[in-house]
Amino acid sequence: MVNNNHFELKIPLCPKCGSDKFSKQEYGQIKPILLQIGRKKLYLRRYKCKKCGRKYQTQLKGLLDKFNTISHIIKENIYE
Ligand SMILES: [Zn+2]
Repeated sequence: MVNNNHFELKIPLCPKCGSDKFSKQEYGQIKPILLQIGRKKLYLRRYKCKKCGRKYQTQLKGLLDKFNTISHIIKENIYE
């Protein structure tokens, strides 16, 4: 977390080609539903790979687990 509800990757790596050459883009906004907190706005830094042009953004895998998100439960229900 860089500041209030804004997140960036420590070491951005392109998921396609693995390059660490990137340019920073605008923040993307997500609104996960967090247990005990409710719906919350979070901002994730987006990146664009300078090598292959792939756009990617900060992932919150571990972080959302920490927040005890129920988003994955909702996702499973949608699949069913
Ligand atoms: Zn790339």
